[in-house]
Amino acid sequence: MTSIERLEELIILNLGDLKQGEQLWKIGISDISGRGVFATRNIKCGEVIFEEAPLLIGPASRNEDTLSNCCICYSSVAVLCDDGCGLPVCGLCSDRHKSECVLFKSWEPTEPQTLNKCRLRFLTAARSITLSSNQKEVLYAMQANVDKPFQKEFENAMACFRKLLDKNNIDHLYRTMAVLNTNSFVVNSESPCPLRALYPLGGMVNNECVPNSTYTFEKKNYNMILKAAKDIIKGEEITNSYTKLLWSNLMRRLYLKITKHFICKCKRCLDSTEGGSLLSALYCKADDCSGLVVPEASTSLHPDWKCLKCETNYPHVAMSKKLNILLKSMDSKLNTSSLAEAIDFIVDKCPLLVPESNQIIVEAKYNIVSRINSSDEGIHLEILDVSRRFCEELLTILDKLGVGASEIRTYLENQKKRERQ
Ligand SMILES: [Zn+2]
Ligand SMILES: [Zn+2]
Ligand SMILES: [Zn+2]
Ligand SMILES: [Zn+2]
Repeated sequence: MTSIERLEELIILNLGDLKQGEQLWKIGISDISGRGVFATRNIKCGEVIFEEAPLLIGPASRNEDTLSNCCICYSSVAVLCDDGCGLPVCGLCSDRHKSECVLFKSWEPTEPQTLNKCRLRFLTAARSITLSSNQKEVLYAMQANVDKPFQKEFENAMACFRKLLDKNNIDHLYRTMAVLNTNSFVVNSESPCPLRALYPLGGMVNNECVPNSTYTFEKKNYNMILKAAKDIIKGEEITNSYTKLLWSNLMRRLYLKITKHFICKCKRCLDSTEGGSLLSALYCKADDCSGLVVPEASTSLHPDWKCLKCETNYPHVAMSKKLNILLKSMDSKLNTSSLAEAIDFIVDKCPLLVPESNQIIVEAKYNIVSRINSSDEGIHLEILDVSRRFCEELLTILDKLGVGASEIRTYLENQKKRERQ
């Protein structure tokens, strides 16, 4: 395994021109997991901790409808390359596409006249072939989880070509894909063409469910900018969240276990009420009890649930079944409703089914705010009032959780202000 000193050296080399005069971070051994990133001095909330360019980037191509974007500029609608490499390219990018075109053609793509999401997704890994030796060393120093979905993805990618050169090449691509599987970030998630990108330093920052940092991506070059979301003291580990901050304990636990292969044991995860936000809470069904039932704070994926008032226990199987039914029925109603109908449903009907604090209602409110934000149509004043109220309620939840100056807070504060104008 690469030593911590060598890893830090490689990461600094990789930062190139983005290396700061005063380096605010260092790599060290983490109490959370393996290696982590630590503050070299006190850092004020809002300060930039680092900026990093992607080591690898390419189309995430998770959905069929995002496949027709150019694989170089990602923004223009493209057609499949005439030369038979099997990649979509726009007219403006044909020159920049040449070397990748030659590479892909040398691997003899199967059915090059058909858009194939596995082939397009494989492009990010294929780009690692031209990395420098230092860049390859930093790539190999990153964690690489191999799980079932990854194995499937690798097999699918291999099936896109007739001839993938020698075994060294295949081993390298296998390793790169595993590193991407473990560490990649989704960039441009709201755009028609989401990307996945690898940031060696960004990927070294460990998870905490109320993190002390927050990241954004530069629109022009996809650089990651990590800022302090709270005041951080010298020597403290710098953390960010791998999940959405408004997800409940149980939701985050399942997500982290399935996709990142660990169980988080941060302060929030070990508090069954999540700072009183009660994002998991359901109604107690015991006679005459109006209490709320929450999953016990544990590291189990199947925790027992307990009423905070009458202390009745509920087995997890029953509660998760109930939660899934509620989630499905509420989701399908919300997804097919107009804004006004969805708001009525959230305000009047949902609280009869689940407590207002439950993540299902909280996320539904967040979705309404996003829908209003992205709507081109004129929004009725009454709806703007509701959106402003939802923003305030969501900000109160962030306060309860102890969330600092994270992106989501900035977003909600802006939405709240925008409605006022
Ligand atoms: Zn293009
Ligand atoms: Zn081509
Ligand atoms: Zn946690
Ligand atoms: Zn009860």
